[in-house]
Amino acid sequence: MLHGEPTWELIEHWDATDPVRRLREAFVIPDESLVYLDGNSLGRLSRPTVQTLARTVEDEWGAGLIGSWQDWLALPEQVGELIGTRVLGAASGEVVVADSTTVNLYRLLVGAVRARPGRRVVVTDADNFPTDHYVLQGAARELGLTVRVVPAHLDTGVDPAELSAAIDEDVSVICLSHVAYRSGALVDLATVTALAHRAGALTLWDLSHSAGAVAVDLAGSGADLAVGCTYKYLCGGPGAPAFLYVRAGLQDELDLPVWGWFGQRDQFEMGSEYAPRDGIGRFLLGTPPVLALRCVQTSVALLDGVGLPALWTKGRRLGELAATLTTRWLEPLGAALASPPAASARGAHLTVAHPRARALTAALIERGVVPDFRTPDRIRFGFAPATTRYRDVWTGFATLRDLLTGR
Ligand SMILES: *Cc1c(COP(=O)(O)O)cnc(C)c1O
Repeated sequence: MLHGEPTWELIEHWDATDPVRRLREAFVIPDESLVYLDGNSLGRLSRPTVQTLARTVEDEWGAGLIGSWQDWLALPEQVGELIGTRVLGAASGEVVVADSTTVNLYRLLVGAVRARPGRRVVVTDADNFPTDHYVLQGAARELGLTVRVVPAHLDTGVDPAELSAAIDEDVSVICLSHVAYRSGALVDLATVTALAHRAGALTLWDLSHSAGAVAVDLAGSGADLAVGCTYKYLCGGPGAPAFLYVRAGLQDELDLPVWGWFGQRDQFEMGSEYAPRDGIGRFLLGTPPVLALRCVQTSVALLDGVGLPALWTKGRRLGELAATLTTRWLEPLGAALASPPAASARGAHLTVAHPRARALTAALIERGVVPDFRTPDRIRFGFAPATTRYRDVWTGFATLRDLLTGR
């Protein structure tokens, strides 16, 4: 939490001295008065992305035609390498970009279960993202597994002691979100991975609300498997393909469902027997979405240009400002902080609870402030550090205060 009373003058000073303030100028922002606090749902479009897309379409597709495949074939691994090493703290050769987060989650989950034969339980928490629950339920039905659901507090996330109590020798995989989509509660990767490994289980992380927002140290934490979106903080564009991480030491032993020709050794020999390539490329399936991959490549390179650590720091400070304004302005008016109070225990979004949250979210959008409504009674504000200014947080929360006082 901030010390002292934040003032408009202080906010202007923070924006003027923000070390990454110039990055916002690289984004397409047609309406400067729109306070967009939903970059964690769909990140903004960058100008370099517009140029890349035009060039890819006209030059690479239009002029280059099939000859462009010599450059395109490497894209899933090239973009994976960029995200893995610059954003996720993975070692080289541990990340590819392909398919959706949902599909990747399913494949890695089944692979992990097969890698721990005889263990019939997979663990998740009650507040994990819906698609994660559905994937687990579907795989459990298919493979005859039990999903053990650890309770989660809607505001502060999973209790480490309860998680620890749920892990035993029957557990093959622990599947959790690093940053909870609703509250923003952050789970410590290294602590949970150590718990899992002590019981002989693997970890499968959903990094959708972490990638580009908070520091992730996949290599340092010993994490086994991870997936996540590129269209949120990484600004890859609607429906952009997801990333998939497999720790180097596990890549050979992992047997994933669904095999395809992009994972095949000597792909263009067109052999009829499947023999997977070495390395992370073995987990690819079919023809990659080239246009979307070029967009992801461009936006991640743009963020990397200012350095991810600077963005993580800014995301945390934006969240601290929002938490302070919640306490000072909104709690006296009947709203409540529905996220962990400590910035170190949150990702880059923050949630405010109020009985009329659904109507308030609609009223905010009408006044040019865009958050998200989240069940049961929450307004979720995302602070994508690349494009959000301190004044946006101020304006967004002042608008909510005005609504609560009937102004
Ligand atoms: C946004 C999000 C997803 C979305 O998955 P898709 O397959 O891209 O639709 C999955 N998990 C989490 C935690 C998310 O926040």
